[in-house]
Amino acid sequence: MPALHLDIVTAERLVYSDDVDLVVAPGSVGELGILPGHAALLTTLQPGPLWARKNSEEVTLAISGGFLEVRDNRVLVLADTAERAEEIDLERARAAEERARRLLTEKQPTTDLARAEAALRRSQVRLKVARRRRAVEAPR
Ligand code: ATP
Repeated sequence: MPALHLDIVTAERLVYSDDVDLVVAPGSVGELGILPGHAALLTTLQPGPLWARKNSEEVTLAISGGFLEVRDNRVLVLADTAERAEEIDLERARAAEERARRLLTEKQPTTDLARAEAALRRSQVRLKVARRRRAVEAPR
């Protein structure tokens, strides 16, 4: 069976491009597993971790939403933002989480609550992906 080719791009850059064996993506209606030979598909993504396996190695990224297309064993992810686990600035994500939580707690009339909720989700996905990587690298 031919491998899958995975490209993850944002408006700013090509974040990931490689042949992989499996992709698990945060589809807007739930987690989506894609193996070689998968039927053609176009779906939206929600904020969440996206991971891919190549041989026995796994790569995990934080995605904040976008689109995913599968066609002829090619998976194209057009992401709003995407960072590989090792690129995530943990302190920045923590600060973003705290800021969003404060806005949601204070509920000032000028606060765009939907925007604050979206920022909270993005920060939590980044924290989850970055912490998982740290846990894998430094098991207790
Ligand atoms: P912040 O408030 O910290 O800017 P944000 O959720 O508003 O967070 P986004 O608008 O989603 O940030 O992303 C803007 C750019 O910054 C994107 O290129 C994204 O990949 C990058 N980015 C955001 N947060 C982080 C982080 N914690 N580590 C590394 N890159 C990040």
